[in-house]
Amino acid sequence: MPFNLIRDKGREGRRGYTLPKPDVETRKLEDVLPEKARRQEKLRLAEVDEPTVIRHYTNLSRQNWGIDTNFYPLGSCTMKHNPRANEAAAAVPGFAGLHPLQPEAQAQGALQVMHELQGFLSEISGFPAVSLQPMAGAQGELTSILMVKKYFEDAGDEGRTTVIVPETAHGTNPATATMADFKSVEVGLDEHGCVAVEELRDMVDETTAALMITNPNTLGVYERNIAEIAEVLHEVGAFLYMDGANMNANLGRMRPADAGADIMHYNLHKTFSTPHGGGGPGSGAIACSEALAPFRPDPVVETSEEGYTLVRPEKSIGRVSTFHGNFGVLLKAWNYIKMHGPELRDVADMAVLNANYVRARLRGTYRIPYDELCKHEVVVQPPEGKKALDIAKGLIDHGYHPPTVYFPLVVKEAMLVEPTESESKETLDDFIGAMLELAETSPEELEEAPTHAPTRRLDEARAARKLKARW
Ligand SMILES: *Cc1c(COP(=O)(O)O)cnc(C)c1O
Repeated sequence: MPFNLIRDKGREGRRGYTLPKPDVETRKLEDVLPEKARRQEKLRLAEVDEPTVIRHYTNLSRQNWGIDTNFYPLGSCTMKHNPRANEAAAAVPGFAGLHPLQPEAQAQGALQVMHELQGFLSEISGFPAVSLQPMAGAQGELTSILMVKKYFEDAGDEGRTTVIVPETAHGTNPATATMADFKSVEVGLDEHGCVAVEELRDMVDETTAALMITNPNTLGVYERNIAEIAEVLHEVGAFLYMDGANMNANLGRMRPADAGADIMHYNLHKTFSTPHGGGGPGSGAIACSEALAPFRPDPVVETSEEGYTLVRPEKSIGRVSTFHGNFGVLLKAWNYIKMHGPELRDVADMAVLNANYVRARLRGTYRIPYDELCKHEVVVQPPEGKKALDIAKGLIDHGYHPPTVYFPLVVKEAMLVEPTESESKETLDDFIGAMLELAETSPEELEEAPTHAPTRRLDEARAARKLKARW
């Protein structure tokens, strides 16, 4: 009973509480609110007892899918385990109770965390400058491209009108280019699924502002020509922006600055673990070169004789979020990085190992369009005649959140599996077992799935076009 309403469980006059009569003089509503501001009809609220309320919401919460209940290999989204130590850090009263307008002198601890995190993200990326302001990956992208735009404005270079994105790009990349008032143009792929360098070489000129590259790209493949790509852009005075939403595979192994990139965004909520399903809190912190540093959003944390202080970078694009970014997420990322220390590299190694294990064991049954060493995720296709959507729905009956399907767009019937480093071999084996079993299941039976979920198969196209968010 997924969409049952608590109102239907109520009976008129039933109460879950009683309040004592007030022992102070109270004013009548009529004396406080004018007639037209007063509700004319009784509000239709559920009239229920306390156990009914508790059961209603507990049962609803049990229909919620989360990394804390099941394996969740949603490609590109990095649904890794969120260590509870992070939550403990974010709940420390000195942090949780801080007011964003508190004077700097009273918030030195929080500013220190931000300053140290800027340092960590600088070290991990190889870039000298960081901003913690953007509150989501998409916002980190937009911030980065707005900085690039402002750089050219500042340099009096007015002809930069285009931003190039590869065919495999996450949808937020072309959206970012468009939002920043650039024309978004697409570059194709080579036989490895990587940016086609020769095609790019023919495309770039003095109207190019930047290329947005994702590395590893959304096929899970490492862009092996990234250094050459950076050169191609730099030759025409353009920038290389790296979408670092999935830095899992790079931690301690590859630094975007060394590879020739000029600016990047992180997804702290993905790579450094904050629960983020359903649009939950994020941070799209950015890191950039010396040349772009003066354009960072306001403020950044610096040290002075008085201690840690908030500073507006010289040619800042201005504010991109209220106050100081998503501080709780910053705290969790700081904690995660501190906990791992130099072993952060193990995160990358395990994420890559797990994805390749899945690839190796599905090979032969599933088709692997780019069957070479992958990074943190792998794209597979169902056996001939089977649909990715049907396998995905079948996985729900096996107790798994389906992988990302039909993305990246360049692969027909794509299933993008990202196991993350936090899963054991046993979990992966069980999941692979389910995938192999579904590959053998008849199409007719698969079309029925899911049969054990709170709802049967939904009309997703209609749900998207005729969204009914209330009833
Ligand atoms: C998740 C993701 C984004 C967007 O991040 P949000 O925090 O959801 O805005 C951008 N690019 C890639 C490659 C991603 O995986």
